[in-house]
Amino acid sequence: MNDLTFYNTLTRKKEKFMPISSPTVTMYSCGPTVYNYAHIGNLRTYVFMDELRRTLKFAGYTTKSVMNITDVGHLMSDGDDGEDKMQSAAKKQNKSPEEIAAVYSAAFFKDLERLRILTPEIVAKATDNIAEMIDFVQKLCDKGYGYETDDGIYFDISKFDGYGKLSRCNLDDALAGARVAVNTQKRHPADFAIWKKAEKNHIMQWVSPWGMGYPGWHIECSAMGKKYLGERFDIHTGGVDHIPIHHENEIAQSEALEGHPVVNTWMHGEFMLVDGGKMSKSLGNVYTVDDLISRGYSPLAFRYFCMNTHYRNKLNFTFDGLNSAQTAYDRLRAAISSNINADQASAEVKVKIEACCERIIAAVYDDLNFPLALGELWNMVKLPQCRDIYDAAEKLDCLFGLSLHEQPEKRDDDIPDDVKAIAEERYAARQRKDWATSDALRDKLDKLGYTVLDSKTGYEIKRR
Ligand code: AMP
Ligand code: ZN
Repeated sequence: MNDLTFYNTLTRKKEKFMPISSPTVTMYSCGPTVYNYAHIGNLRTYVFMDELRRTLKFAGYTTKSVMNITDVGHLMSDGDDGEDKMQSAAKKQNKSPEEIAAVYSAAFFKDLERLRILTPEIVAKATDNIAEMIDFVQKLCDKGYGYETDDGIYFDISKFDGYGKLSRCNLDDALAGARVAVNTQKRHPADFAIWKKAEKNHIMQWVSPWGMGYPGWHIECSAMGKKYLGERFDIHTGGVDHIPIHHENEIAQSEALEGHPVVNTWMHGEFMLVDGGKMSKSLGNVYTVDDLISRGYSPLAFRYFCMNTHYRNKLNFTFDGLNSAQTAYDRLRAAISSNINADQASAEVKVKIEACCERIIAAVYDDLNFPLALGELWNMVKLPQCRDIYDAAEKLDCLFGLSLHEQPEKRDDDIPDDVKAIAEERYAARQRKDWATSDALRDKLDKLGYTVLDSKTGYEIKRR
């Protein structure tokens, strides 16, 4: 097997990767909470998961990857209060939580497919694993880590020596950071619920040794990781927001139960920002893949956009940035396709192509440096035209997942209908010399990423 190095959040170091049981790599990725459509930030984290899985496969490993689908227990606040996100969405849409989960899970898998993110070998729904979670909680209670209060079973973080080791905060920091406890029976404000007792109006609830209830969000991942991957596994992934609470709590639960470390390498994807700030519904900047498509972008251009920034760096999403990515991505594919009917390379060019391929592979084996790998791919397509470039790109595509050897779609007719309608409306405003409306509509088009060029005979719409 080839040498790979990955940055381990736990040690804050790049480490040589050595799987427990080569050639299989065991890996767990925190999956989506299926109460809404995945936004582009969520999807950036799954593009990172995919870069990792594709790199491992390319290096000759067999991946045994698990991703959970959270369809119960993720509350509105990261503390242990607020309504269950599934239940809240169900009420708003007048549907059952199962219906909500089915709709948004299907949408999520459609997004993965459109972004060419390979589906993990095992996809596990939280609600299919409740018995394992109850068993986990019971064992934590038996070992003295779990204790009962009126509203649930809590994990006593003071009993677990390593609490805070992932985020590098100590117990005092955790206690100081915890909000004033809603539940005054908690031994420490930062103790967290591993099982919640259900109130009568709670829709999802199961029989347990502690009455009717439902699992805490963190226990889901610990229990499903144990069930599918055993008491030790190679890699755990998620977004950086999971480091201080979700993954810290997962470590506490799993290590308390097993009596030893469970995960060897913790890997986290940095956040995506939009226009330099947080994504939020109130700012109207929470975009989905469908939003990008309706503005005329291809999902794989978004994938290219993500891959062009290292997974450990913040990525600022703007439509200008996506537009440049779309242009670069189309040019890259056009350049690769232009070699399809070319002659074989000269000996000299062959050596250069091989060197590019080697540098691409070395880049991704070095903590998934896909931006560097893409740069090398560009160097390769700039070499004199030859069939070998096309063949090399085709082989490398299992690593990039960018459909590199396919012709870019013709984009001229790709102006979405709603954009065309706004341009028509603007044209009509111009005809009646209503400049204020015309300017407002031009601004609207601009915000959507389109420029309109007026001419004597009409107008032309161009995507920026
Ligand atoms: P959730 O469905 O909220 O559990 O989130 C699914 C995944 O998306 C998790 O791994 C989060 O860490 C990740 N995530 C959430 N927001 C962002 C963001 N803005 N950028 C990157 N990843 C994110
Ligand atoms: Zn998780």
